[in-house]
Amino acid sequence: MSENCIFCKIASKQIPVQPIFENEEFIAFYDLNPQAPAHALVIPKNHVETIMDFEDEGLMGRALKAVQETAKVLNLTEEGFRTVINCRENGGQTVYHLHFHLLGGRFMQWPPG
Ligand code: 5GP
Ligand code: ZN
Repeated sequence: MSENCIFCKIASKQIPVQPIFENEEFIAFYDLNPQAPAHALVIPKNHVETIMDFEDEGLMGRALKAVQETAKVLNLTEEGFRTVINCRENGGQTVYHLHFHLLGGRFMQWPPG
């Protein structure tokens, strides 16, 4: 747990959260400022700052399984969705606790703006 990290506080339930999906290692919840009809964030409960900072390769596979499970709960598996990881300034990362955006419920333009 990293002090003053908003996602650590969500993961530890210091800030109340309605999990979409949760297991021992990950929690998924709705984004506060949704960019699509369905916009979830999937985070590891342990603090990892960015995609450049994880050591355990297995973490990514398990994280994507958590993304799968979240997509199932949100009923997005047939129509599809987009998953995004932003890294630092140019990637548009604002919360420095690794998270997967899961965006669905509308057609996603490519390339993004
Ligand atoms: P980033 O820009 O770092 O990739 O994405 C951070 C996301 O976290 C943003 O989409 C933002 O709306 C969301 N966010 C920031 N603070 C909170 C919060 O306290 N609760 C929730 N549910 N989402 C948050
Ligand atoms: Zn954190």
